[in-house]
Amino acid sequence: MVAPAGPPATINCEPRQARKGAAATVDSGAGVWRVGVATNHSSEFDIVCAMSYQVLARKWRPKTFDQLVGQEHVSQALINGLDQDRLHHAFLFAGTRGVGKTTIARILAKCLNCETGVSSTPCGECSSCVDLDDGRFVDMIEIDAASRTGVDDMRDLLESVHYTPTRGRYKVYIIDEVHMLSTPSFNALLKTLEEPPPHVKFVLATTDPQKIPVTILSRCLRFNLRRLLPDQIGDYLKTLVVTEGVETEPETIRVLSRAADGSMRDGLSLLDQAIAFGGGKLVMSDLEKMLGLVDHLHVVSMIKALSSNDAQSLLEIVEDLVSQSRDLETVLLNLAEVLHRITLVQCVPGYRDPERSDWSAIEELAALLPVEDAQLFYQIAIKGRAELGLAPDPRTGLEMTLLRMLAFRPATADPAAPAVPPPAPAAAKTQTSAPLARPAAKSVKAQATDTVKAQPPEPARSVEAAPAGSDWVSLLNVLKLSGQARELARNVQLKARSDDRWDFVIAPSLRYLSSESCVSSLSQAISDQVGHPVSVRIMDNDSSELRTAAALEKQKVHDSMSEAEKAINDDPTVKALKEQMGAQLVEDSIQPLQ
Ligand SMILES: [Zn+2]
Repeated sequence: MVAPAGPPATINCEPRQARKGAAATVDSGAGVWRVGVATNHSSEFDIVCAMSYQVLARKWRPKTFDQLVGQEHVSQALINGLDQDRLHHAFLFAGTRGVGKTTIARILAKCLNCETGVSSTPCGECSSCVDLDDGRFVDMIEIDAASRTGVDDMRDLLESVHYTPTRGRYKVYIIDEVHMLSTPSFNALLKTLEEPPPHVKFVLATTDPQKIPVTILSRCLRFNLRRLLPDQIGDYLKTLVVTEGVETEPETIRVLSRAADGSMRDGLSLLDQAIAFGGGKLVMSDLEKMLGLVDHLHVVSMIKALSSNDAQSLLEIVEDLVSQSRDLETVLLNLAEVLHRITLVQCVPGYRDPERSDWSAIEELAALLPVEDAQLFYQIAIKGRAELGLAPDPRTGLEMTLLRMLAFRPATADPAAPAVPPPAPAAAKTQTSAPLARPAAKSVKAQATDTVKAQPPEPARSVEAAPAGSDWVSLLNVLKLSGQARELARNVQLKARSDDRWDFVIAPSLRYLSSESCVSSLSQAISDQVGHPVSVRIMDNDSSELRTAAALEKQKVHDSMSEAEKAINDDPTVKALKEQMGAQLVEDSIQPLQ
């Protein structure tokens, strides 16, 4: 590159997230102006640029209210004030970085000083407008309060307030990060802020309005600027790449606008960086590397491993991600996103969002995953992401979250699929996030067949499949009994019966159940059932071997519990958890299913 002729001009490169006033490093080597673009990610993306290069965040800074993205509530109020000539003399713009605070302030300064007159639509062509756009208009005074906090600085400033504007109609003081001012500075400012000379407007900008004294706040017209939505940023970036003729892969803009996290300046800086990284193109794989994003393929293989209960593969994928220094929180984010898309496709067949590509891959995954699994995995993914900070380290958090998906996965009807293990013991804290008992219960059910039903809400139904010969237990099913009378019926064994009298035995400890009214209800129910009057007699029996409905149910619960414990202990995933992660089984968390 040939050395630019003439004096070395200032290169206006605003590094990402650098505060105003921070200059980019200019290394005037032979013939090349080298601008080190400071980034959060890496310093390897130095841009070797000619003098004319202007970073996108500056080049694309909106110059009129029309071009402003979002913040309509602010621009509309200012437009009305300007057009009706009822403009307040002090404004406070509060909002996070990169949402347009100083941009709006500059537009306002231009509206006030355009040579064609005060209006909400400055011409943009007169020398005042041009100078204002370039930030070198003498009557627009930008002060970075972060670096000029002292009261002396403030006194100097306030002294200059009284001089009339040099070129324009108004002197516009833009005090950025105003919350950084010292208390004496705020006090010095108070009087002038309340009653400035008619040719002065103040615009205070802050990211932290809580730190501003209420005396200042009450003298300003306050606007809260909103974080920009990813769509708003995306639309703007899209216009930009089209205008700049940047070759763009689908998805990239969406990824960038999400990474911008509500800040247009961040979005533009990231775009700049991505274009430099991709050699003038916007390529998804570059973006993934740059942002530490997770390869789509990783997420796809993760979902495939989940669908086939393959814990081993899941751990290998995590290993791979860690070795590539990927951001593990993003893994869960992307996983949740893909699961969301899978669910969309499952619920609305043929669903397509033109903003995104690779729908055929999503359809493929959707076929692998039952709807309820997708829902459950999504839930666990977002929960796991929120709790990632609580994990000993991100890798552990990710591994536990993925294994939890397997642990809590409802067993499928597919007989080829191995029975799903019980809740991971170490994850006991998350009991609320998924139905704890279901997987174990299902696997038990499969083995114990229909005869096993734990936690019987309806005792009668639970004895449907009672061993043959338990006539009374079967009969009990159809008797119209409730309350204590039913309890009595469940706890007696039929000893002998004749046409008009049935003799039962009951354990002495349960004798209290056989009150006169209950016995009478029982005999009535039996009479109704057999079609003629039957009297009932209940006798004590010391034998502990009574085959009552209650005892049979209890036995079944016990059996199913044993089955559940066995199923859990034998499960390969649980074994792997124990061996590889030192997990311990919380015995009393095991429950057979309904
Ligand atoms: Zn103008």
